[in-house]
Amino acid sequence: MSASKRELVFATNNPHKLEEIRRIAGDAIRILSLDDIGCHDDIPETADTLEGNSLIKARWVKDRYGKDCFADDTGLLVDALDGRPGVMSARYAGPECSPDDNMNLLLKEMEGIADRKARFVTVITLIEADTIRQFRGEVAGKIALERDGNSGFGYDPIFIADESGISFASMTPDAKNSISHRGRATRQLIDHLLRD
Ligand code: IMP
Repeated sequence: MSASKRELVFATNNPHKLEEIRRIAGDAIRILSLDDIGCHDDIPETADTLEGNSLIKARWVKDRYGKDCFADDTGLLVDALDGRPGVMSARYAGPECSPDDNMNLLLKEMEGIADRKARFVTVITLIEADTIRQFRGEVAGKIALERDGNSGFGYDPIFIADESGISFASMTPDAKNSISHRGRATRQLIDHLLRD
């Protein structure tokens, strides 16, 4: 690894997100986890927008650890549910719920609903020195009738992207990254970092 390689903290405790983003960044940037900087805080997500929560997480690390960093916040927005679970996607079935609980609730709420259109949205906030920038990625798709696939995480088994026609959890990590909300937002982030 070159001594001059850019280092950035990714303000997440989610190993799946870390793995996805490191895979997209490749060798271009060294991405440190919260664990790498000794941060084991449970960062509160109290905003009511993806932009707000993404900013809270990035600012938490910048203010307390003094490191340039970025954070992502992601939501699954379902048309027939007026955009729910949206910013509440992580805690949709309750404060301590599991991904399975969230999927069960969503499938139940979608029972008998023909319009299954949904989209994933990721907002990444980057804080470099005093400058804050946000990058947004989206992918359109629909909520499946039942789970399919074992790859990925979160709602991946029940989200079918229009561009692939199969669930995210049935795609390889690279195939998911090539069309996903997080892949799209992350490539904007990397393009920005490599341009500077
Ligand atoms: P957060 O960005 O960590 O708040 O994530 C919100 C919720 O969406 C959590 O339940 C995650 O598991 C889920 N989630 C985030 N990104 C993805 C994804 O790429 N696929 C499926 N679920 C996701």
